[in-house]
Amino acid sequence: MKKRITPAALCLLLLPLYSTTNAQVNAAVNNTPAEATVPVKDSTAKPTAETPAKKDTIMIIAVGDIQLGTMFPNKTFLPSATDGPKFLSEVEPVLRGGDVTFCNFEGTFADATTQVRGGIGQHSYRFGMPPSYVNYLKDAHFNLIGTANNHTNDYEAGGRRLTATVLDSAGVHWAGHENRPFCVFEENGVRYGFCAVAPHTGVLNIEPAEDIEKIVRDLKEKEKCDIVIVSMHIGAEGTSAQHITRKTEIFLGANRGNPHQFAHRLIDAGADVILGHGPHVLRAIEVYKGKFIAYSMGNFACYSSIGLKGPLGLSAVYRLKYHVPTGNFIEGELVSTYQQKPHTPGPHIDSTEQKGYNTIMNLTKTDFPESTIQFGKDGHIK
Ligand SMILES: [Zn+2]
Repeated sequence: MKKRITPAALCLLLLPLYSTTNAQVNAAVNNTPAEATVPVKDSTAKPTAETPAKKDTIMIIAVGDIQLGTMFPNKTFLPSATDGPKFLSEVEPVLRGGDVTFCNFEGTFADATTQVRGGIGQHSYRFGMPPSYVNYLKDAHFNLIGTANNHTNDYEAGGRRLTATVLDSAGVHWAGHENRPFCVFEENGVRYGFCAVAPHTGVLNIEPAEDIEKIVRDLKEKEKCDIVIVSMHIGAEGTSAQHITRKTEIFLGANRGNPHQFAHRLIDAGADVILGHGPHVLRAIEVYKGKFIAYSMGNFACYSSIGLKGPLGLSAVYRLKYHVPTGNFIEGELVSTYQQKPHTPGPHIDSTEQKGYNTIMNLTKTDFPESTIQFGKDGHIK
């Protein structure tokens, strides 16, 4: 039976407010999740009734930004009680069947106890969602959530604490806050390490990159993770930011990182999968040293306050088959999706024109002419 969060349960959950001291959080990270205390298994050991056989191949399903509406500036920006549960229903079948199903949670949970971040001007956006919406994510099979992005801090530390409480209580794996930089978990006998980074406040920052490399290296070597997944919310934004420049990208005067260099550094440090998002558009894909990089998976499901015109409305579900013993990408499928305004509600699957898939293919051929990725029919890649 699925674990659901009810308003009454949330009141109880909020009583023991989280401390934000690093020592306590690190202790929580290291000790609290049952998965993290599971002894490292010898991959050569024969499985017993207690230890499920480690799978040889796994399916990682990933999408980009999810924003389920916002209570800022008021609740008319949230989906109705009818639209909310339906918002992800059309894509639910293609999100099903993953060992890991990932999204970037573009925002924070918020309620009457949380304070919206100040400095609000004409073009300010704040993404706060009711805690009960975690059930929409769970019903769509998401079990791994990145919380490092430019909206993590929209409801300040209170919003981050509430988000942590809600996600922990819902039983999903997550990381990305500065005091929850990574997590370790097991699914179907395979051990995963995960971290989420962004060049913003309140999150695991992309700089210094040496610190992120150390986290990745430790997840692989000390924690003995079979598969290390990195979520990166970096790069400039918008329709003019679809290409990989292989340079540091500046957006609104801020350093948004060099996605190409950063992804390669983390793979060199031991990462197996790089899941990029943040530019709000699709970007190229790459296989580097046998590891898959999605440079930007686009606006996957954005209910309000996010532009969806043209390339901003195109996205895809990345279904990636991985070989566990080597941690290498085998093959995959890119299922094209789109959103359009007014709220219909989306996202929708585009099986006829496959605009998302064609966009990724064309960008890959342009930005990585040396790529050996084969683009087959119906979204298949290998
Ligand atoms: Zn963002």
